[in-house]
Parts: sequence; structure tokens; C-alpha cells
Amino acid sequence: MGTRMHISRRRAIVAGLGATAAVVATVAGLQTISKKSDYRNDYDVVVAGGGVAGFAAALSAAEAGARVAVLEKLPALANAYFDARNMAVVDPLRETPLGIPDSLERHYRDTLDAAGPTADPALVRIMVEEAPTALLWIERLGMVFSPTLINSGSHWPRSHVPIGPGYVQVLSKAAARAGVDTFFSRDVVEIRRGKGGRAESVVARTEGGTLERWIPKKALVLAGGGFGSNHEMISRFAPAKARFESANEAGSSGELLLAAERAGAALVDMDAVEVVPRSNPKAGIQAYLHINNARYIVVNSLGKRFVAEDAHRNKIAEAFSRQPGEFAFEIGDDRTVKSYSMLMQADLWKAIEIGEAFKADTVEELAHKIGVPVASLRRTVDAYNRSVRTKRDPLGKLPINLSHELRQPPFWAARVQQRIHLTPGGLRINTEARVLDQFGRPIPALFAAGEITGGIHGRNSLGGDSVTDALVFGMIAGTNAAREKV
Ligand SMILES: Cc1cc2nc3c(=O)[nH]c(=O)nc-3n(C[C@H](O)[C@H](O)[C@H](O)COP(=O)(O)OP(=O)(O)OC[C@H]3O[C@@H](n4cnc5c(N)ncnc54)[C@H](O)[C@@H]3O)c2cc1C
Repeated sequence: MGTRMHISRRRAIVAGLGATAAVVATVAGLQTISKKSDYRNDYDVVVAGGGVAGFAAALSAAEAGARVAVLEKLPALANAYFDARNMAVVDPLRETPLGIPDSLERHYRDTLDAAGPTADPALVRIMVEEAPTALLWIERLGMVFSPTLINSGSHWPRSHVPIGPGYVQVLSKAAARAGVDTFFSRDVVEIRRGKGGRAESVVARTEGGTLERWIPKKALVLAGGGFGSNHEMISRFAPAKARFESANEAGSSGELLLAAERAGAALVDMDAVEVVPRSNPKAGIQAYLHINNARYIVVNSLGKRFVAEDAHRNKIAEAFSRQPGEFAFEIGDDRTVKSYSMLMQADLWKAIEIGEAFKADTVEELAHKIGVPVASLRRTVDAYNRSVRTKRDPLGKLPINLSHELRQPPFWAARVQQRIHLTPGGLRINTEARVLDQFGRPIPALFAAGEITGGIHGRNSLGGDSVTDALVFGMIAGTNAAREKV
């Protein structure tokens, strides 16, 4: 990565103590900041949000010589379990032995095709081209990925499956080793601009309700994630999606996005809330079979397939909304389940106990257990297996994903329904990860990365691209924040 090559290793000189002037918080309901101890101006770069993008930015800024603070609103790091997500990267080292033809151009085209016209091709180009560097970086830091690549929520099998510790775990440990300080229970509620429109500080609320003002010497990085768990924001920006439950974690609460909007940042594609089939989030487990699109089919309550499993997410969502009851079953066989991680296999067994997943020795018995017409499911499975053999699917599944006949008992089913998955819209940024204002001008000293941004996935993301986006633009934001002129 060009921006990463010329990083100065020199540590910035630390200035030390807080400012002396008292300032009144402007957000309604917040108390006055008055005490000297409420100020922190001893960091070069302040990162709001301790997820994949936040720690990628923090570590990159530290590697570029900056003294960095991460402010995370939750009292601890995000759940490591959900941190083990798939990452889409063109990777000839893994793809060539598996016979998967791929290229940067194909990844670029796939992402833009799914995203639609509102995506910024320059941002997509950067994400795709820098992804191999990001992969090498995170592997060197200690992440381990399976040698097998999968097609998860995307057209092409280029998603890397972590088989060890997750991104946040690995990045946060490396960041701590590089001298980054992380402050938990710091909910960033306001972004303040100063001379020349520069983003000069943020206000964070602590667990006890007191307010702190953080004044970085160089720049701010916003990495607070999306707003998928904020029902009020979903209702405001995408009212038609407000009826869906969210599969997002509590941290995806979106207020940082609104704080940036109040500070003059432009938003893009905020109505593009993505829903995907998921198991019941209340069960707290991942009870579904759609990790690899080549290894399962999806059928409705009549036992019929109704959409190509590798279609774009918006097409799948539309097809789901036309099915009776708007739910479906994902059907796989023993080889499907055994190809998934031990964690997922364990979840599927747990899901059987609570009636979210089903297992049977024959397709007929499975149909009986899930309550779909027996003959219909039998016909569906037989027809699909024929499609795998002929590499031709009437619903249009790509031949590369027609590779797995459902033959090996026991057969499995998982009940899925549409849930809010992620929010591809957000802050408008440029290729330097600078936040843009309403007129397309960069706001000085303000950077953003990850799901808080928009314009990369347009209106529809590809599976695996979101983690890639968070890592790549996190690295860019952090490196550039560390170099920002004072
Ligand atoms: C169930 C599920 C499965 C997924 N699977 C995949 C997958 O396999 N591949 C893929 O590419 N993508 C996947 N995604 C999407 C992907 O996980 C996210 O897009 C990605 O994690 C975003 O990273 P981020 O760092 O931008 O945000 P996050 O990881 O959400 O981190 C943001 C952090 O900021 C903190 N924060 C929020 N507001 C504030 C504030 N005001 N002040 C301070 N801190 C704040 C949050 O607590 C959080 O820790 C999945 C999403 C879900 C819900």
C-alpha cells in the first residue's frame, strides 16, 4: 500500500496535560464540561470506535509514529465470537490451487455490479487493490485463515474464513503492543470543529455520565460502525425495513454517524439498509447453513426453491418478501455441515434442541420434520442435484457454485427469516478516507473508515467485502491521520 510504505517510525512528542478553558457541551441533556481533568490533548490521533476499522486505523497510525487513543463506547471489546467473519480478497496463493479463476478486475466488477450506481468506483478500486496487502498485514499480525475459500453472500468464492482469533482480538493486541491506549465506556457524542473548519475535538460520555473532551494534536478517525441496531434510525432512513429484527450487535447504534452529520458531514445511501436471511438472533447462536452458497439450497414452506442462493442480497430479499410467511428453510447435507467451522457445527446441534434447526436420515423425514410437502421437497432436491451435474440451474445459480449435490445423510434444515444485517450507507469519504462535507470538500483533520462510511457498497454489499472495507480504509485513515499537518 503506497500510503503505508513511507511511514515514519518516529514517535510524536507527547505534549501532556489538558487545556484550561471551560467549554459548555452543546448536545441537549449533556452536562457542562468544566474541570481541567476533563480534557485530554496528549494524543496525536483519537479514534472513535474499537471495531475492525477502529483498531486497523489505530495500529496504522501508531505504526506511522503517532500517539493514539481509541475511545470505545462499550465496556469491553466486541464479542470475539462474532469477530470471526469472512473477508473477500483476491488471493492467487489460495485460489489457484483450488481452481478458482479470479482477478482484481473481477472483484472490482462484482462489487460495483452489486452496489449499483451510487457507489464511488474510485473507493471500490482502492478497496479491491489494497485488500491483498491488508490480508498479508492481518496474517502477519497473527490471524489464521482456512486454505479453503468460500462464496458467502457473494458471486465468487473469494471469502477467507478465519480459523483462529478474530480481527478485533488480533488488531487490538497488536495496537496495545504498539503503544495505543484504549479507553472503554467512552461514548463519543459530539464532534467539534474549530479554526478553518478543522475537526478539533470530540466529546465522550463516560459510564458515570461525565463528559470528557478529547483534543487530538493531528486528527480524528470515526470508526463507530453502522446503525443496524438503532431502530429509530432505521425507521427514519428506511421505514420499510423497520419491521425486521436486527442481527446486529449493540455497538452498531449509529449515533456517531448522526454526530458527524451535525458537524457538517455528508451522508450517502442511508436508506440502503440490508436484510439477509438469518436464524433467530434471540437464540444467540448462528443456526444457518448459508456460509457457503455452493453447499445448500433455500426452500419455502411449499418445499420449493425460489431464488438462486448466490444472487445479490437485494434480489434474495425481494424473493423472500414474496414467499408465504416470508420465511424459508436452508437445506444441506452432512458434507455441508462438516465443511463449516466447529463453532458453527456446535451451534447447529444446539439449534436442534431449541427447534431452530432440524436433522433427519432422509429428505422425506426432513420434509416431515419441517412441515413442508414431502413429495415437493424430494422433487426439489432431485432437481437441484441434476442441476449440479449439468451445471445448469433454472434459477440462474452460477456454474461455479453448482458443485455440491445434497446426497449424504443426515440432511439438515435451518429456519431463516430476513433480519437487518448491515447498513452500507453512511459518511461520504474520499480515497484518502477523509470525511466530505455537503459540498464534497474534505473536512480538515476528520477521517472515517468501516461501516460508518458509505459509497463503497452502494446499495448492496457483497459478502466478505465489509470486513475488507473496514480493514483497508482503517489502514488508510490511520496512516493519513498520523500524517495530518498540525
Ligand atoms: C451477524 C453478522 C455477520 C457478519 N458477517 C460478515 C462477514 O462474514 N463478512 C463481512 O465482510 N462482513 C460481515 N458482517 C458485517 C461486518 O461485520 C461489519 O460491516 C464490520 O464489522 C464493520 O466494522 P467496523 O469496525 O466498521 O464496525 P464495528 O465492528 O461495528 O465496530 C464499531 C465499534 O464502534 C463502537 N462505537 C459505536 N458508536 C460509538 C461511539 N459513539 N463512540 C465510541 N465507540 C462507538 C462500537 O461499540 C463498536 O465496537 C456481518 C455483520 C453481522 C451483523
